[in-house]
Amino acid sequence: MYVVCTEHLPEAIDEFIEVYEQPPDLYELDKVTFTEWTSPHTCDFCGHSPKYLVV
Ligand SMILES: [Zn+2]
Repeated sequence: MYVVCTEHLPEAIDEFIEVYEQPPDLYELDKVTFTEWTSPHTCDFCGHSPKYLVV
């Protein structure tokens, strides 16, 4: 699972496919409700605010 900004979305998708050998599901962070965990505050690839959840 990756949490990324718009800039790093393609990178996260590439890495996801490489690791899991299947395309990920994409969610916009502001449209998902977090129950199990708190929404992360930074992109996995940089320090910016994340926009997408790649799972
Ligand atoms: Zn980023």
